[in-house]
Amino acid sequence: MYRSDSDGLQTARDQLVSYSARLLDDGLAVGSAGNMSVRLAGVPGAGTPGAGTPQADTVAITPSGVSYAELKPEEICLVSPDGTKLDDGSQETPSSETPMHLAIYAATRAAAVVHTHSPEVVALSATRTELPAIHYAITGLGGPVRVAPYVRFGSAGLAEAAVKALDGRSAVILRNHGAVTYGRDLAQAYDRALLLEWLARTYRLALSYGEPAILSAAELAEVTAESRRRRYGERRGGAS
Ligand SMILES: [Zn+2]
Repeated sequence: MYRSDSDGLQTARDQLVSYSARLLDDGLAVGSAGNMSVRLAGVPGAGTPGAGTPQADTVAITPSGVSYAELKPEEICLVSPDGTKLDDGSQETPSSETPMHLAIYAATRAAAVVHTHSPEVVALSATRTELPAIHYAITGLGGPVRVAPYVRFGSAGLAEAAVKALDGRSAVILRNHGAVTYGRDLAQAYDRALLLEWLARTYRLALSYGEPAILSAAELAEVTAESRRRRYGERRGGAS
């Protein structure tokens, strides 16, 4: 069995439980809807030989059908890159959206993926083809966020549609379904889910006043360049 004490798995399990509870508190999902995962690649011990020992790119993911309010760390599931459930001690079934999570890990450098059914995003998904840039913070997601075509939950087709619409972005909206964000860790992926929901809400509020002004590609590029310049300056000057 996967040794949970020395390989980062316990940390991942605790984080997934903690952020799952936040998913409810922040109104990004209800019951057991939505799901999230962490890529365990590169952690000490991953990929070492031995029966049942997972290879690099093993993914820890929330189980299917367990209410987030009752989710326990030991119920978090482990899956290999091909979706096989590993001998992880969990009696639960991995999330039905495991194929989508794995497809995103295969196509990007994501270290964590968050999938929500947040209301503002779902409402937008049913009526629009894109979340446009009415606020420069959308550069944190790579730019205007595409709405991927509707495909049934849990299907390979949905995984494919999500990955395609993620091109150059760290967020995608799934038509009549929800949203997916990823990041360098679970905290960043989750913050992006919150940002996406806030941007969708802000867009709806703007529409209530009239036709919103949309930032141009050049204006967004300027924001991205300035953000990079400031981050570089912070690194050179040390934490302050
Ligand atoms: Zn879903």
